[in-house]
Amino acid sequence: MVLIYILLALFVFSMILKFLGKNKKRICKTFGHKWNGCICSRCHLTRDEGHDWNGCKCRVCGKTRDEGHDWDVCKCRVCGERRDDAEHDWDGCLCRRCGKWRDEGHESKDGCCTKCGENLSPQCACCKTRLTPENRMRGTALAVCKDCYYKAKRVGQHRLISYNYPKQYDLETRCLVCGGTFNSYDEGQGGGMDFEKEPCR
Ligand SMILES: [Zn+2]
Ligand SMILES: [Zn+2]
Ligand SMILES: [Zn+2]
Ligand SMILES: [Zn+2]
Ligand SMILES: [Zn+2]
Ligand SMILES: [Zn+2]
Ligand SMILES: [Zn+2]
Repeated sequence: MVLIYILLALFVFSMILKFLGKNKKRICKTFGHKWNGCICSRCHLTRDEGHDWNGCKCRVCGKTRDEGHDWDVCKCRVCGERRDDAEHDWDGCLCRRCGKWRDEGHESKDGCCTKCGENLSPQCACCKTRLTPENRMRGTALAVCKDCYYKAKRVGQHRLISYNYPKQYDLETRCLVCGGTFNSYDEGQGGGMDFEKEPCR
């Protein structure tokens, strides 16, 4: 019984709060907002004028603008904005500050970079094109060009390419992203990863 009273009291209390909240908005609607720079001191609505800029960010409402950044080489200390046309703080293939990647300065171990995890094969596993910083697809288990990546068949998160073994009807399907393989043989059997059921990495 006591519990019911407490619940009832809480309910009434929350209704009063709600009413007061609505009331503030109603007062603002009728009499206009009480602007203090970019924020209404009564209902806390914000507007896009009268900001109190601290370089690129408003101290009051947190809005950011594309000027007055405080650049730490390539990344803004205040808002985190990155700039690409700047110098970077390269640690081999990755920028220490903004995480930008470049196709040089890798640390190769067994054909993969220990820093960025990239497969460093010089040519596309699919079309055999020479890979350059511009056309190399990042984050895939197989080294492929962007063209082949976007052309690959999608099954869930997998992106599949298939090829016949030379002079055979046997077919090998591989996922570019996780490197999973499925082989189907001429005699009608198959084996390997079930792309429909097993998730990509
Ligand atoms: Zn207001
Ligand atoms: Zn503001
Ligand atoms: Zn900034
Ligand atoms: Zn950077
Ligand atoms: Zn690397
Ligand atoms: Zn390719
Ligand atoms: Zn996959």
